[in-house]
Amino acid sequence: MNSTVHDADSEEERDSIPESPMMRVAILISGRGTNLHAILKSRQDGSLPHADIRVVICNDPSAAGIDVAKEFGIPVRVVDHKEFKGDRSGHDAAIARVLRAEDIELVVLAGYMRLLTAGFVDEFAGRMINIHPSLLPAFPGVRAQRQALLQRVRIAGCTVHFVTQAMDGGPIISQRSVPVLLNDDEDSLGRRILMEEHRALPQAIDLFTRNRIRLIGGHVSIRPGDSSFPDLEKDIGPMTPLILATGNMDKVQEIRAILSDTPLHLFTTASFPGYAEPKESGETYLENARIKASYWARITGLWSLADDSGIEVEALGGRPGVFSARYAPTSRERIAKMLEELRDVPVEKRRARFVAVAVLRSPDGEEYSAKGTCDGQIAFARCGENGFGYDPIFIPDGYGRTHLAELPDDVKNSISHRGRALEQLKDVLRKLA
Ligand code: IMP
Repeated sequence: MNSTVHDADSEEERDSIPESPMMRVAILISGRGTNLHAILKSRQDGSLPHADIRVVICNDPSAAGIDVAKEFGIPVRVVDHKEFKGDRSGHDAAIARVLRAEDIELVVLAGYMRLLTAGFVDEFAGRMINIHPSLLPAFPGVRAQRQALLQRVRIAGCTVHFVTQAMDGGPIISQRSVPVLLNDDEDSLGRRILMEEHRALPQAIDLFTRNRIRLIGGHVSIRPGDSSFPDLEKDIGPMTPLILATGNMDKVQEIRAILSDTPLHLFTTASFPGYAEPKESGETYLENARIKASYWARITGLWSLADDSGIEVEALGGRPGVFSARYAPTSRERIAKMLEELRDVPVEKRRARFVAVAVLRSPDGEEYSAKGTCDGQIAFARCGENGFGYDPIFIPDGYGRTHLAELPDDVKNSISHRGRALEQLKDVLRKLA
């Protein structure tokens, strides 16, 4: 296959694009190879089913990225630019020979730091992509993060684009945004952008190798369809950022799914390393959710969303409630302790309720909150592997004897305390976007 951009105009033709063919991909690097690592990891995880990564080409024999390629068993070709003193075209020609020999259909510049000559760019026009650490067309060229800081922009990010002769000026395929914090330096901002690069570049490669990207009149058209990156599909391009003010990845996963129909770019606190979680010293769900939301809103200067939740058991006088996380050290121990406390309690006295209070807060203190509950009873033994926390011993009303941890994620989210609380905030959340 030579053409990288499949012009499938009719429905039939689209459907007839075979699912299985592999596209031959080469990756060019110069340095650490963190983007290369993200690509190869995606490939290993099965998220790039159409990318046949044939070769990694590197212009620097001492680049750490070479070891990354080797670790994943990908052949490396070093084309050392120092052997081509003053002869850029000769260096590019040597690289082009490797690409031709491998019959490469997509060239990915993943931190390749050399300017390419016109002849090379022309030969691979429409089938060569690059990632740049800014929201182009702002800040092309070197030290884009520094340029962003000097200009005091509030939102930075990265761009995947086709390579043309205009430096960092080719048609844009996708962008992902990150907030800029007041005390950011080049390093901290660079790290945050890099996390988004590691999502954007594999996604663009996936789209391209599925023949879903086309260049029409110099503009990029992306054909809708299935993707291995379903949650990223919707957030191509910069959108209003929102910080999920929780370090609990189970909650993050649920909140992402519940809010998947709001056009917000959700960040987790993992994007802001170096900041500890605040102490949840409140006596109510609302106080604790407010502590978390206002802390992260203050740090990031962005709207922040927190939830505080717990389980209230009637036979225990409403305990553990707001102290559910501290009822015992681990989830297993919490469940064991609760089953033990309720050992002699008959089925009709095992009523319980999950409660969640969600707080949405702006950096200057504007606040919205909502409460959601989910009624049911505590089982006599654990069952199910989905969800988290107390889900294996909670039987929600309306589903027979099925435990919450046995329900599919989307069903849990439609009846859960968290789902119900967040649903009430969706109108406000949509207005932020
Ligand atoms: P916090 O909201 O982070 O303080 O955590 C509250 C406690 O309730 C934790 O122990 C959670 O595991 C538990 N919890 C909160 N939501 C759920 C849920 O949806 N399913 C099961 N347990 C939950």
